[in-house]
Amino acid sequence: MGNFDKIVNLCKNRGIIFQGSDIYDGLANTWDYGPVGVELKNNIKRTWWKKFVQESANSFGVDADILMHPKVWEASGHVEGFNDPKIDCKNCKTRYGADHLIEDFSKDKVNADIMSFAEMEQYIAEHKVPCPKCGKSNWTNIKTFNMMFSTSRGLTDENQNLIYLRPETAQGEFVNFLNVQRSMRAKLPFGIAQIGKAFRNEVTPGNFTFRTIEFEQMEHQWFCKPEDSMNFYEEFKQKAVDYLVSIGFKRENLRYHDHDKLAFYAKAACDVYYNFPIGWKELNGVHHRGDWDLSRHQEFSGKSMIYTDPFTNEKYIPNVIEYSIGADRLTLAVLCEAYDEEKLPDGDTRVVLHFHPAIAPYKVAILPLQKNLGDKAREVYNALAKNFMVTYDDAGSIGKRYRRQDEIGTPMCITIDFDTLNDNTVTIRDRDTMEQIRLNINGLKDYISKKIEY
Ligand code: ATP
Repeated sequence: MGNFDKIVNLCKNRGIIFQGSDIYDGLANTWDYGPVGVELKNNIKRTWWKKFVQESANSFGVDADILMHPKVWEASGHVEGFNDPKIDCKNCKTRYGADHLIEDFSKDKVNADIMSFAEMEQYIAEHKVPCPKCGKSNWTNIKTFNMMFSTSRGLTDENQNLIYLRPETAQGEFVNFLNVQRSMRAKLPFGIAQIGKAFRNEVTPGNFTFRTIEFEQMEHQWFCKPEDSMNFYEEFKQKAVDYLVSIGFKRENLRYHDHDKLAFYAKAACDVYYNFPIGWKELNGVHHRGDWDLSRHQEFSGKSMIYTDPFTNEKYIPNVIEYSIGADRLTLAVLCEAYDEEKLPDGDTRVVLHFHPAIAPYKVAILPLQKNLGDKAREVYNALAKNFMVTYDDAGSIGKRYRRQDEIGTPMCITIDFDTLNDNTVTIRDRDTMEQIRLNINGLKDYISKKIEY
């Protein structure tokens, strides 16, 4: 079994990620986070918010509605152009996104996002691109399919208006540009960030949570003066990778993938790829979008997006540097990066998730050596639970309990033994080194806080 399948199994068995609607045999491409997974994903979102809002001078957060005025999606170009090019294998009837088929086949050397349907069909025919499932190269023509989920709103059955579930969070930042600028008296350059759900009716090849139809995005739009925009673009490329390294990624598992062909309005674009067990794949994008988004909203809403520089009196529509990363895709990458099977000196193997302590689901596990130490152990648990996510386990041998915590990446295990009753000390075992030290209970809060600092 490859590592990817092992990670999927571990997620299911250890409460990290379950198949969506599991008891009904699942709904394809939907996934539910379990008790351990929800902590992991929330912690990841917190580190992102800390880096890009809290510690980023002049960046502001918003939480816009998923449902937006239908004109937003006309202005953004999604109604007209957010089309997935679907293609079916005539032999085994499997459906693919033609763009992903080409990109996977070319090992990401070709950027199909900017190819026309005719160009994609030509590429597939010329290269005899095989169906990844059955190996035949016998394709239908490409059919277009808008990826936005639509629903309707209205007080009576006859009076329904079409509205969409947002396919990206970015528009929530763009439509609030004027609100944020005015209410926060923000001067350029400044940023607007948001974490929230997005929905895309995608054909997905079944790589677990890599590509799903409902997912969360973490997006940051940096509004700036056109002359300064290229410098900021380079800065955000750097920041995107630095952030990933700060939560535990090895630099050698990340690389830039500059787009050589750009959307007509874009000035530069690049993705950061991660070395997933299923291959190098996009983890996030950094895009220089020029003044396209604000200009389009100015045109469709009739509201001026022109910014007047308070020092020079210059007037211009700000440029935007967009940095966008999927919270679910990042969680999957974090799991892949942290997963390890370690050979132990006694010949045994342990599975361990080496999460950065700041994103570990539980910070500490409380393990009473014997069940009759439960009262003291509960006392320690209750005291620590006021400040940290703590778990408790008194079932089975201590060795087995350590292994269970290793498998969900708990950085510290605290054992309560008979000495604890006499001298108020406990043993703390480190997940990565497996070394143990003895510490007074009164010092635990400070010790743990230091270990999980981010
Ligand atoms: P892809 O080429 O993988 O479809 P994209 O270029 O369309 O991605 P963007 O629209 O730039 O992606 O979205 C920004 C980020 O949101 C991506 O880098 C990815 O992390 C995440 N993302 C996009 N689509 C999905 C999806 N269907 N499922 C999970 N995450 C997604």
